Amino acid sequence: MAYKHIYGPVPSRRLGISLGVDLFETKTCNFNCVYCECGKNSRYVYERGHFVSPEEILSEIEDFLANHPTPQSLTFSGSGEPTLSLDIGFLLKELSRRYPAIRLTVLTNGSLLWDRDVQQDLLPAHLVVPSLDAVTEEAYLKIDRPYKIYPLPKVIDGIGEFSHRFRKQEGREIWLEVFIVPGVNDDESHTRQLASVIQEIGCDRVQLNTLDRPPAEEWVKSASEEVLRHIRETLVRQGVKIPIDILKRYNVRSELTRYHQDVESAIREALSRRPMRLYELSLMVGAEVEEITPYLDILQREGKVKAIIQEGEIFYHMVK
Ligand code: SF4
Repeated sequence: MAYKHIYGPVPSRRLGISLGVDLFETKTCNFNCVYCECGKNSRYVYERGHFVSPEEILSEIEDFLANHPTPQSLTFSGSGEPTLSLDIGFLLKELSRRYPAIRLTVLTNGSLLWDRDVQQDLLPAHLVVPSLDAVTEEAYLKIDRPYKIYPLPKVIDGIGEFSHRFRKQEGREIWLEVFIVPGVNDDESHTRQLASVIQEIGCDRVQLNTLDRPPAEEWVKSASEEVLRHIRETLVRQGVKIPIDILKRYNVRSELTRYHQDVESAIREALSRRPMRLYELSLMVGAEVEEITPYLDILQREGKVKAIIQEGEIFYHMVK
């Protein structure tokens, strides 16, 4: 069966083996983020509606699961803002009933989480990852370029209200994603304000992301490792007590502030013996997962290492 609405599975470091579910056929969004990998909006879509057939989505997922190993996550993402779909509630409910062992993840720009219907729709999910790139009006307008009916305080209050409601259910998590655009939201003052918003909202993790694919606007650059570490340190100093992950992807060794030839050699040596899961490699090399992932990024970019999905897990192996 050829699939139109699902893609992957992708070996994702944060979500595990993730099968993507796209609720749209063309870019459909109420934001027009400068870093969007789907390109610029040709028009804003700001009203919720029915975009693709939910039955078709369910039958594609059913076919996929009947013929492939089970992924760890069914991830609603793709070419637009998933909460614009009026079918998301039905799909989440149906998928949680049919496949209770698979985690349901929704990546959202967070703009509609103040809406009680959207909140209700998302309740059957297990993990919701709202973006919050900006806590000042100026940065919000510059990075996310929202459709004009979404004032920032309403969006922030909506994320907080939803987070509170969603996390009351057992085992549910909210991870807040912040996309750092150098020169717009990476300064000390913005980071301090972000720290207090994070504490007001209440969530389980913060993920600092930055550019690693061609953006909608050419002026957007990737934040350096140093800047991302500094933002994390500032958030911690300002009282953020939950884990803060850095999601940056690396292309070349010079991007690493602390490059060690011996760590890279140990990774290559370990993987030349046999394919390994990330935690095994970390134990073998004697370095934290966060320390070895930049090396894996670079070796993957160079085509020397590959991530493969085997028996429902992600393994790294050397390319011969
Ligand atoms: S919210 Fe997502 S899909 Fe919409 S413009 Fe931003 S990055 Fe693109």
